[in-house]
Amino acid sequence: MLAYCDLHIHSCLSPCANDEMTPWNLVGMAKVKGLDVIALTDHNCALNVPAAMAAGKTYGVEVIPGMEMTTREEVHLLAYFPDMESALDFSREVDAHLPDIANRETLFGNQIIVNLQDEPCGKVPKLLLNATDLTLDEACALTRKYHGINVPAHINRGGNGMLGVLGLMPPPPEYPVVEVAERIACPESAVKGRFVLHSSDAHRLEDISERGFTLDVAEVSARAVFDLLRNKMG
Ligand SMILES: [Zn+2]
Ligand SMILES: [Zn+2]
Repeated sequence: MLAYCDLHIHSCLSPCANDEMTPWNLVGMAKVKGLDVIALTDHNCALNVPAAMAAGKTYGVEVIPGMEMTTREEVHLLAYFPDMESALDFSREVDAHLPDIANRETLFGNQIIVNLQDEPCGKVPKLLLNATDLTLDEACALTRKYHGINVPAHINRGGNGMLGVLGLMPPPPEYPVVEVAERIACPESAVKGRFVLHSSDAHRLEDISERGFTLDVAEVSARAVFDLLRNKMG
């Protein structure tokens, strides 16, 4: 079966995302757009995953718990998890690897945590945009510890894409699944032998993907999409 997916979406927890990107708003927008499975991937924090999953249950959108972490090399690395608890445990560990630098809201934006009803209930004090002190290898090992999988984000996008940062992609079988930003050129050699995802990396409601990118899964569920990606990991 084909599942319409957008596996890279930020909420109001990410300072660079619009405050209107509350979990319930973004899941509702995914529903309006006809998406089946989405992933919430805030920068270096998964604290809005519970609200997104609650919204997903109500709206009938499957939500994969995730994160977009920043490695020591400044590579953006997506992490997907099989369940909420694993994502939250992982998030606690990642927090300990972020530098103790406070967010300056006027400069970087708000880092809003919401409760299950989508009401603001706190803010993350540390700036989530900083790089963790975890190398790529350490970040992948930590993800595996919590039964998660890693997908390098927007590999072909200058700043924090793996290709731009490292200058080349580590050859397969490393990173068998990658995210490629559409509308930006990507050398064929970077994706050869790899499974490619296209997602929105939405920071605003209107940027969430239209019904377009699909994955062929056994059933239309977050778990089935996660399992498909995990199988691609070999
Ligand atoms: Zn990114
Ligand atoms: Zn992103």
